[in-house]
Amino acid sequence: MAILRFQALADVMGRTPKAVSFPSKKVTDYYGELVFGKDAMAKYLSRDAFRAVMTAIEQGDTIDRKVADNVAAGMKAWAIENGATHYTHWFQPLTDGTAEKHDGFIDFGDHDNLIESFSGKLLAQQEPDASSFPSGGIRQTFEARGYTAWDVSSPAFIVGTTLCIPTVFISYTGEALDYKTPLLKALNAVDKAAVDVCQYFDKNVSKVQTNLGWEQEYFLIDESLFQARPDLMLTGRTLMGHSSSKDQQLDDHYFGSIPERVSKFMIELEIEAHKHGIPAKTRHNEVAPNQFELAPIFEEANLANDHNQLLMDIMKRVARHHNFEVLFHEKPFAGINGSGKHNNWSMTTNTGVNLLAPGKNPKGNLQFLTFLVNAMAAVYKNQDLLRAAILNASNSHRLGANEAPPAIVSVFLGSQLSGMLDNLAEKVTDQKMSPEEKTALKLGIGRLPEILLDNTDRNRTSPFAFTGNRFEFRAVGSAANCAAALTALNAAVAVQLKDFKVEVDELIESGVKKDEAIFQMIKKLYLESSPIRFDGDGYSQAWVEEAERRGLSNITCVPESLTKYLEPAARKALIGGGVMSEKELEARVEVEMEKYTMKIQIESRVLGDLAINHIVPTAVTYQTTLIHNVQGLRDIFGEAEFEELAGARKNLIREISGHVSSIKAKVKEMTEARKVCNVLDDGTEKAYAYDQKVRPYLDDIRYHIDKLELIVDNDIWPLPKYRELLFTR
Ligand code: ADP
Ligand code: MG
Repeated sequence: MAILRFQALADVMGRTPKAVSFPSKKVTDYYGELVFGKDAMAKYLSRDAFRAVMTAIEQGDTIDRKVADNVAAGMKAWAIENGATHYTHWFQPLTDGTAEKHDGFIDFGDHDNLIESFSGKLLAQQEPDASSFPSGGIRQTFEARGYTAWDVSSPAFIVGTTLCIPTVFISYTGEALDYKTPLLKALNAVDKAAVDVCQYFDKNVSKVQTNLGWEQEYFLIDESLFQARPDLMLTGRTLMGHSSSKDQQLDDHYFGSIPERVSKFMIELEIEAHKHGIPAKTRHNEVAPNQFELAPIFEEANLANDHNQLLMDIMKRVARHHNFEVLFHEKPFAGINGSGKHNNWSMTTNTGVNLLAPGKNPKGNLQFLTFLVNAMAAVYKNQDLLRAAILNASNSHRLGANEAPPAIVSVFLGSQLSGMLDNLAEKVTDQKMSPEEKTALKLGIGRLPEILLDNTDRNRTSPFAFTGNRFEFRAVGSAANCAAALTALNAAVAVQLKDFKVEVDELIESGVKKDEAIFQMIKKLYLESSPIRFDGDGYSQAWVEEAERRGLSNITCVPESLTKYLEPAARKALIGGGVMSEKELEARVEVEMEKYTMKIQIESRVLGDLAINHIVPTAVTYQTTLIHNVQGLRDIFGEAEFEELAGARKNLIREISGHVSSIKAKVKEMTEARKVCNVLDDGTEKAYAYDQKVRPYLDDIRYHIDKLELIVDNDIWPLPKYRELLFTR
């Protein structure tokens, strides 16, 4: 055992970091070279095909078969020239990560000769066996077929020797089995609803695009140490491990200089990202030791999300070149910061206006306030839906666990912006406004850009913060597919905007002037949703109590949070907004419940195994050494002297016995608890049972193991410790 531990460490020390060859070219020379984007299409497609694809992208349409054949031919030529031998439909099933099944381009030609072939049919649609992907009972295994269909709005790209075609994944009967399909529908819904509202301000608006800028946090761990931790390998987090005497107390890691091996990893990662058209821009150390962040320039949300999924995949591969393992888990180590994935969200019009940034004149500012307040109202009415979309087994270690951000959903606006809206709410009345009053109001909101310019409050504890020209949804998990959060958010905003339009139109019909109607509705929404507004410290106990007084929900139990997907507000946003069917929504909840059960089950089994066959034998071995020592002392010394010498050692023997007995008893109880849960048929009941009957043992057992780690001989402890995992570079 000792040998394994020290071998791993020695391996790390003796290893020379990989030399990275820096391309001699500028980033702009190789950016996107592995993407079949606009430039490559212009070169490889016929004029008609190129136009058809561009139109399909702009209008969210599909392309016909003839065009598909031409695109396939061009794509094949480009891919083969760039070293591809295979192609795959690249999709995002309801598991973590992406899926792909590679097929070679090779085929037999008319004369049984080998050719490279790829048709429009193969480009547009594939039929992978769907039976092994989670579907929540949508597909029976006897009709296991699923379809993947090309998402024209996201360009194909090459990874290694494979051409990857981004696709949606749907069942034979047409239900979504992936994250992308509902996201596309939600983006479409918000586009339509926002365009309608924009008509009050500018008739030229015909398209509203949602943007996403994700910030990806992650840990890097030496690969050989990772391999020596079965819990990290199998569950993504450490199920045991005493905290290191020093970790993040001194705040000396955040924004610190990047260690050399890590820096080499980051350089290679960015080169790869840029070749794949991912606009990686920012890199820095994060708060915890060995924790880092990467952020790109924001892009259209669907493309940005594909890029996030692709980047996570690239990261894992590049990390191995540098003998690192990337940890995306939200809480790989207890006691130090976990990782999130901030989702920076905004909407821009085809006329080039960011709807979440103040405008250039009073009209633009009124439009900005309209969208700001509607977003706030959407979050208020859909707190539970938003939480359901982000709270899962791994993220539950952050949300609601005395850590950033809390499980209470709140919105940060900043004192200046809130002050201005308070003022507006005071001035606007149901009575007809005089021209002077109107002018005063408009003058007031005319000052918005200056106000926001000095908006120096940068609240870091808010789960949903306005940051000058966008909202930052910070509670999303680092391992998550952003699509779940973005689908919920955009669906909620779409429905809210639709309701807003209906009410404003009613006011206008009843004789209220358009501007006044909008002012009145902004006031109404702002006041109605004011409980969600919170600018204070979101991590404090005081906020938990205050939130309760305000009637905000605070749910930390994953199964309970998931059931909120089926409540009226969520149904209205998702089903009412045309984002999911009833069947799809129910299936999704079923899948998430099962994922939760499985994750707790796996953690429980891994912990049980490690406790019984790694920890207990090690503790007993050390205890036996102590017993021999005590026996030796008794042989050598007289009774009086022996008692004096052996007292502390005897206590240690007792202490070890105590922890070993507790571990054994609790592992047995936990196993029995699993058996009781496993016979439950109903998925929701089972998830609740695992949450309440099995999950508590994880911390209970860990407590005793961590105590043993402190007293057992370091030489024989079988697992790399926190101080080794977190500080080896
Ligand atoms: P911070 O850590 O201060 O939030 P970062 O630079 O780490 O800032 O990340 C900011 C992210 O927000 C980047 O991905 C950036 O592209 C994105 N972003 C900036 N402006 C917008 C916007 N209008 N809409 C969406 N995302 C944006
Ligand atoms: Mg940020």
